[in-house]
Amino acid sequence: MKTITKQQIRQAAQEAYDEVKGLSGGANANYIPYLANIDSNLFGLSVTLPDGYSINIGDTDYRFGIESVSKVPTALLVMKQSGAQTVLNKIGADATGLPFNSIFAILLENDHPSTPLVNAGAITACSMVTPVGDSNAKWQAIVDNITDLCGSAPQLIDELYKSESATNFNNRSIAWLLKNYNRIYDDPTMSLDLYTRQCSLGITSSQLAVMAATIANAGKNPVTGKQVFDADLMPKITSMIATVGFYEHTGDWLFSSGIPAKSGVGGGVVGVLPGVMGVAAFAPPLDKAGNSVKGQAAVKAFVTKLGLGVFNGQNVEIVE
Ligand code: GLU
Repeated sequence: MKTITKQQIRQAAQEAYDEVKGLSGGANANYIPYLANIDSNLFGLSVTLPDGYSINIGDTDYRFGIESVSKVPTALLVMKQSGAQTVLNKIGADATGLPFNSIFAILLENDHPSTPLVNAGAITACSMVTPVGDSNAKWQAIVDNITDLCGSAPQLIDELYKSESATNFNNRSIAWLLKNYNRIYDDPTMSLDLYTRQCSLGITSSQLAVMAATIANAGKNPVTGKQVFDADLMPKITSMIATVGFYEHTGDWLFSSGIPAKSGVGGGVVGVLPGVMGVAAFAPPLDKAGNSVKGQAAVKAFVTKLGLGVFNGQNVEIVE
């Protein structure tokens, strides 16, 4: 049993933040005009423990585009609505080893879209959200689920939604290719629109840390006390995050950090240590795969300082 104090956690977060703050490198996502114009110096690090204790350092109240991090809650939503086995059958849980928006991956694995955590699988996941055929009710279900996981509501960034809708030609191809292979379960245009809208939700790193802590806490939101999903979905969603959360760099990330984490091109990174804590970071400049440079450095430095990791074979107890 490894015992750590809240003070040690706070100190590790502060040190990680201070060390990473000056890090340069990377560039804002430039294929979505709104994201290209966000202040590159924004940087926040947030931690939430299973008892709701939270640490927030830096720009943790800044609302940024959730982007691909939204794939995690919607994967959970379809598993809640249809069951994990159905999601495995209809979408899958395999890493593609290819970029998040790969069309090549769809052609290679045309019997299923691989995983709800890449664009193809995420668009399919949006098509599966019930009630099928009712765009407004589906959208409400997506937003309500994120609200439950975060303990507070996300807010659509209209400018981002417009910016992304006007430029998402690659994702339009994905939606129709999925249709061609019978791997989309509602209207393709509506499913793509729901996906684009969910990516355009504004969220803060402090909200994302609560979401991560809800996952780490087997579905019970540590801040609101609400049981958001059944405990048996915690290992399912965490395994998906572990396999593909950092796209084609996921193996390197997991090897070097030891924490399953999901990134988004808005600069967010969300990490889950089941039973222990949720952590989130935000900084817009990305590496070539689309992962936040400072976000990943901060999360890695933080867990490394505490000697935490899913493969360490230790039970962890957090004391006052
Ligand atoms: N909305 C973005 C896209 O579909 C999300 C990509 C990401 O965050 O990885 O291209």
